[in-house]
Amino acid sequence: MAAALPELSPAELSRYSRHILLDEIGVDGQRRLAAARVLVVGAGGLGSPAALYLAAAGVGTLGLADLDRVEEHNLQRQILHDTASVGETKVESAARRLAALNPHVRLNRHAEGLTAANALALFSAYDLVVDGSDNFPTRYLANDAAYFARRPLVHGSIFKFEGQVGLFDPARAGPCYRCLFPEPPPPGSVPACGEAGVLGALCGVIGSLQALEAVKYLLGIGEPLRGRLLVIDALTLQIRTLNLRRNPDCPLCGAQPRIRAIAAAAYEPVCAPAAPAGGAAADAPAEIPVEEAQRLLAAPAGRVLLLDVREPFEEKICRVDGSTLVPLRELPARIDGLPRDRHILVLCHHGGRSRQVAGLLRAHGFPAVSNIQGGIDAWAARIDPAMRRY
Ligand SMILES: [Zn+2]
Repeated sequence: MAAALPELSPAELSRYSRHILLDEIGVDGQRRLAAARVLVVGAGGLGSPAALYLAAAGVGTLGLADLDRVEEHNLQRQILHDTASVGETKVESAARRLAALNPHVRLNRHAEGLTAANALALFSAYDLVVDGSDNFPTRYLANDAAYFARRPLVHGSIFKFEGQVGLFDPARAGPCYRCLFPEPPPPGSVPACGEAGVLGALCGVIGSLQALEAVKYLLGIGEPLRGRLLVIDALTLQIRTLNLRRNPDCPLCGAQPRIRAIAAAAYEPVCAPAAPAGGAAADAPAEIPVEEAQRLLAAPAGRVLLLDVREPFEEKICRVDGSTLVPLRELPARIDGLPRDRHILVLCHHGGRSRQVAGLLRAHGFPAVSNIQGGIDAWAARIDPAMRRY
């Protein structure tokens, strides 16, 4: 085995000397890393520290799968990218940074991201996958693809102040993510994508732990997190490790699996607008696109109220002229002050909070309420490209 591993040049021996000095790694361990191929799904909050440490560690081939472009509000935590990379694809920005860090690493750019169509082939081309995705469809897709391709998957996720790390190792009979959570949450039940807060340094902790698990796995040292889920509470710094069992009823790896292949329809975005809640007056649709909102706002003054339910700091970033700000949390106390004789158009960042508010207003008997689909972000994208996005 060792004979097939690549030889290291004097420059590499010098670069990796602090690894090589560890008995558990040595020259042979470093050669194993040089031979290894790791795919990082998502070049964002978790993928940034994971990819940086894996590249610095001398993992020979690093794949990056992400279809997004760098936005200014990513920079608070996505440390692969910098201010100059705003607007660039994340894969390109990340590759530039990683190549500058370690020219000995071969970088594969997968700018189409992880899709149901490419997942199996992509995973099969690597020895291990680090899941740094930030949404449920991709997380379930990564889990299922890792199972079918029989590749170890280092899972990481963050919700508010809690972070999780685990190793799902289907080739060694390990449990999978679906053993724990069989199905994604229904649309609308999780904070709207892109609207949940994230503590940047916690991404650093979780992404670094993912890199650590990946390196341990590739070297075959220590005790992997196989069958365990490490949970960190950033506020108390309490760390728990939950033992995971394979679930015999798991829809993927259980005794009678329901999922037998990667079917694209199974990984639809859960942030897509949920079905309208109904109850809107016939002339006031429950959901309207931004173009329709703009048309309605051009109507004579007094007929339409544009109700912005974001937080004051968000309004400082960008606002639509003529809007009235009532943050979601203040709405119950201020609901009686809203006019019932006007068509109320509710606006937030991406359309999630505003949908909640529209439902609340209808439940309080407001006759004409419409949610603006996609929120002010869609407005910025399609109506006012000069508007600042976040
Ligand atoms: Zn399972």
